Amino acid sequence: MTNNCIFCAIAECEIPSFKIYEDNDFIAYLDINPISKGHTLVIPKSHAQGLLDCSEEKLRALLSVVKKVAAHLKASLPCDGFNILQNNGAAAGQTVNHIHFHIIPRYNETGVELSFVGGKGDMEELKNLASQIKMV
Ligand code: 5GP
Ligand code: ZN
Repeated sequence: MTNNCIFCAIAECEIPSFKIYEDNDFIAYLDINPISKGHTLVIPKSHAQGLLDCSEEKLRALLSVVKKVAAHLKASLPCDGFNILQNNGAAAGQTVNHIHFHIIPRYNETGVELSFVGGKGDMEELKNLASQIKMV
């Protein structure tokens, strides 16, 4: 397998996938363990591990394909909304180290669980943190 990367192997058709979009640089295919009907992954054909490893140019083009495929899924499935998910690093749930965007169609009538539970922010802590990490 190229690079030992399963998504590179999919991009090179070394292993099969159910592709729903392809151009010179990107492909979209159905996730093998779908969270919901139509769960799709969008990847660049060239390997990059995560968001921070992609050039601005590649990311712009990738996001444009994500939008195109999401619009197509919204138009062709009876879904009521969709989530875009993009994990970076094992701590964030990334299991395949080739950048990918999940498009997860959501249906009013089906109870897919996909939630992050937030705590109650402490204003003083938030203020201190913002002054530590602010970029402006
Ligand atoms: P991550 O957790 O890294 O954000 O997501 C990786 C996704 O890739 C998972 O949802 C998983 O089901 C999917 N996946 C892993 N291996 C394969 C594969 O061989 N084919 C397809 N179509 N999806 C895969
Ligand atoms: Zn790869």
